[in-house]
Amino acid sequence: MARTATAREARQPVAPSDFPTLVLDPAVCDGVGICAHLAPDLVRVDSWGYPIVSSDPLERGSERRQAEAAVRACPRKALHLRP
Ligand code: SF4
Repeated sequence: MARTATAREARQPVAPSDFPTLVLDPAVCDGVGICAHLAPDLVRVDSWGYPIVSSDPLERGSERRQAEAAVRACPRKALHLRP
């Protein structure tokens, strides 16, 4: 049976994630897809080659390393890590 929150827990504000997320600014992305090669666990490309970025918190070290590599390599500075 799933555990339910106590009344005290339910009143606690939702804390922001302790983990960053990878964010794409599609307005400046050129769609070449370097990011998908550097962060294959986080980025896939659509049928036009534009990235689709996972919005999940980057909980694993390997995910953060992939995201950081993609952010550094992005020629349009279209990727960011949101704390
Ligand atoms: S590397 Fe940057 S500009 Fe290129 S597809 Fe990815 S987000 Fe877009």
